[in-house]
Amino acid sequence: MVRLRGVQKHFGALHVLRDVDLDVAAGEVVVVVGPSGSGKSTLCRTINRLEPVASGEVLVDGVPVPAEGAALARLRADVGMVFQSFDLFAHRTVLDNLCMAPVMVRGIPKAQARTEAMALLERVGIADKAGHFPAQLSGGQQQRAAIARALAMKPKVMLFDEPTSALDPEMVAEVLAVMTSLAEDGMTMVVVTHEMGFARRAADRVVFMDAGAIVEVAPPEQFFAGGGSDRTRSFLSAVL
Ligand code: ATP
Ligand code: MG
Repeated sequence: MVRLRGVQKHFGALHVLRDVDLDVAAGEVVVVVGPSGSGKSTLCRTINRLEPVASGEVLVDGVPVPAEGAALARLRADVGMVFQSFDLFAHRTVLDNLCMAPVMVRGIPKAQARTEAMALLERVGIADKAGHFPAQLSGGQQQRAAIARALAMKPKVMLFDEPTSALDPEMVAEVLAVMTSLAEDGMTMVVVTHEMGFARRAADRVVFMDAGAIVEVAPPEQFFAGGGSDRTRSFLSAVL
């Protein structure tokens, strides 16, 4: 579903992605971990071309990610993204947040978009907040609304960049529960997170990045057993 081949990315003199190869199969959950500044967010952002790459290939569902224009907009509609900051539209209700893109980008009739949005809010456990504005929700509720908003576009793949890092500890679990249920339903997911418990439970594979390179890719039981590189072991000993 997602394929990166020989991806290179620089920010000025800084080489932030070094010859990155990654395949994410349909229905697979790949969790990306690594130290701060190792390029995890940049990797995530290359998949929907929020970051253009200097060289290498990025394909989504077998199609090279277009550089610009309507083709790129179509690609982005298929790739849902959830960030650390919930970035809901503050002056719109939760329900409107979910309906806007399906109506405007996908051309779904309004009534249908509302019905589907309500089902999604139900699914993430905040149907009672449909008429509220984002500021009236807790952080965990806002993040669940942001996930529902991304799902409203019926994406082929979901990217999560530290979706729980800005949350109070008691709200982390409710967001991870939504993500776990998505994973169980077969959504293709790339998840950058420091939540090692989630990685253990939900990942099909864990990708460890360091200094812009993928150092290790392994199923969670193998990754957390610590049989990998020295760099992986020292990372694990710092986070576990
Ligand atoms: P964190 O865990 O702190 O979120 P990360 O692994 O997501 O880190 P990235 O955000 O991908 O790391 O950053 C990789 C490197 O690229 C860092 O050294 C960062 O300072 C640099 N960088 C990221 N975005 C930009 C930018 N827009 N301009 C210049 N440098 C950038
Ligand atoms: Mg980051």
